Amino acid sequence: MVSINENYLNLQGSYLFSTIAKKVREYQEKNPQNLIIRLGIGDVTQPLAPVIVEALHKAVAQMGTSEGFHGYGPEQGYEFLRSAIAVEDYQARGCDISPEEIFVSDGAKCDVGNIQEIFGIDNRVAVCDPVYPVYVDTNVMAGRSGRYNTETGGFENLIYMPCTRENGFAPELPKEVPDMIYLCFPNNPTGAAIQKDALQEWVDYANRHGSVILYDAAYEAYITEENVPHSIYECSGAKGCAIEMHSFSKNAGFTGLRLGYTVVPKELSVSGVKLHDLWNRRHGTKYNGAPYIVQRAGEAVYSPEGKAQLKEQVAYYMENARLIREGLLAAGFTAFGGVNAPYIWLQTPAHMTSWEFFDQLLSRAQVVGTPGSGFGASGEGYFRLTAFGTRENTLEALERIRGF
Ligand code: PLP
Repeated sequence: MVSINENYLNLQGSYLFSTIAKKVREYQEKNPQNLIIRLGIGDVTQPLAPVIVEALHKAVAQMGTSEGFHGYGPEQGYEFLRSAIAVEDYQARGCDISPEEIFVSDGAKCDVGNIQEIFGIDNRVAVCDPVYPVYVDTNVMAGRSGRYNTETGGFENLIYMPCTRENGFAPELPKEVPDMIYLCFPNNPTGAAIQKDALQEWVDYANRHGSVILYDAAYEAYITEENVPHSIYECSGAKGCAIEMHSFSKNAGFTGLRLGYTVVPKELSVSGVKLHDLWNRRHGTKYNGAPYIVQRAGEAVYSPEGKAQLKEQVAYYMENARLIREGLLAAGFTAFGGVNAPYIWLQTPAHMTSWEFFDQLLSRAQVVGTPGSGFGASGEGYFRLTAFGTRENTLEALERIRGF
């Protein structure tokens, strides 16, 4: 008789954002007259930059001609995009990454979720707490997590690295050595960044112990401070221990277009096997390449006009971040993040739980954020606001929160 993958039964609750959407829908049905402002999900709101739209139009027109038509492309991505990424995102920063080490995909979420497939099922996995839920859930689905412990609020086989106010939201090197280590900087949800010397310590730790770091750099474009690395490959020895994932969603507004990439250095081996070969095989077998027109739009991100237009777009969101952060601090909240990341991580007032604060903020101010506890046990008592709203909505939300 057919059986199911029982690991799925170990998954906890429904996905955080579906729960939020349900609560918001129910509130709106009961209170149709109230205008809700959403600073919850990390989706962008600005339209695509003109240079991207132009590249899309051009690529669509090409596809309508017999000379310019593109069918199945290389699964790893077109050379024009892989080269632009290698040169602009890496070589320009002094990182020795070649186009062949880059795998283009339809976004970081899939890569971040799929990458664990090339690792053994018995590997010990370390994640930050709070954490972007995809790292945990995909390891649960694979059967690497063990059972969920309701007392600790975590899975028994995962190694949780608390990121709290006390340690500046920076995970400490785990005493129990993990095999796979998920790191995300600038961080979702806390908005914390990591200094280069601190990241170097992680790279040295991984090399010392034979661990692999899975580095999610989805928010790299939001770094404003010097000495905060844009890539883990800025650290020496990282090519021997790290895989890096990037997204075009937040630096260029591709949340709807879909584009991302993963870097697997050729020198990264486990037990004599190159992870590059495994990922190449996996990618070629299960993925048929990002759309040609979207890859052309991705190429435009790296043109001089693209860089200028997107710098402005990111600056727009970062101005929102500054307004939220400073507005909250002025209103007496304790808030973190928002300097190198589009996320503000605030402490809930009056010892409210994260979900209590969510409900209060929704019913009294009609502002939607994300409860910190949805990202892990150490997120309890915190709340995430995003800077991805429009300026108008951001200012209006702040006004309402001040009143609240
Ligand atoms: N990684 C992190 C940390 C994220 O917060 C997100 C999206 O919010 C992603 C990856 C997914 O990015 P993409 O839109 O490229 O799938």
